[in-house]
Amino acid sequence: MGEPVHRELIGRLAAARRPVVFSGAGLSAESGIPTFRGRVDHALWSRHDPQQLASIEGFERAPELVLEWYDWRRGLVVEATPNSAHVALARWQQATLITQNVDDLQERAGADPDRVLHLHGSIMQDRCHATCGWSMPADPDSPRGWHPCPECGARTRPGVVWFGEGLPEETWALATRACSNADLILVIGTSGVVQPAASLVELAAASGAYVVNVNPEATPLDSMADTCLHSAAGEVLPELLPD
Ligand SMILES: [Zn+2]
Repeated sequence: MGEPVHRELIGRLAAARRPVVFSGAGLSAESGIPTFRGRVDHALWSRHDPQQLASIEGFERAPELVLEWYDWRRGLVVEATPNSAHVALARWQQATLITQNVDDLQERAGADPDRVLHLHGSIMQDRCHATCGWSMPADPDSPRGWHPCPECGARTRPGVVWFGEGLPEETWALATRACSNADLILVIGTSGVVQPAASLVELAAASGAYVVNVNPEATPLDSMADTCLHSAAGEVLPELLPD
């Protein structure tokens, strides 16, 4: 650090008036939460495809299995702690924090829940699988297995967005508004290939936002970025977003 590119960037971040952060699995991977891109390296789950478990078809075919999978994943989240990137972002009061992550590490790092937009829902919530709208915080200590919805009797399920489902409308509307008004977008730990979420970066860039991409590896988003930092977010963000 201390190189000219970082000095200039620290100034840009501090001066941004309507900044947006767009984060993905890489941010929470630094807290030890697996990204589930391929097979799961775990005795119970290595036979299963995470993409199948995270789909409507998977849930309707084997609901108990899918609920068990989410119970296990919820346990990983409960045991994880926010990393220094989550903490630095939580302190950046003016930023809207859009995330593809379903964990609550950003909130537990101290971010106001009202400025965290979970595009893919929250694993710490349960909701009704039908359309009655029932939802409540999940109880990690509750007995496993499925519970009927207290409102309509349908199945309950984790409050995440599965393959084959649309993004939550209100959250999506808030995210697109923030991106179309943004003067800077800081992209963290996402390859930017999952649509429609990735189109938010294009929207911000087309609206004139300065694009910063932080990812240890090169990604398709590099070509859209004004500045790329191939670093771990937990190392670089506390220096870019000082107290
Ligand atoms: Zn219901």
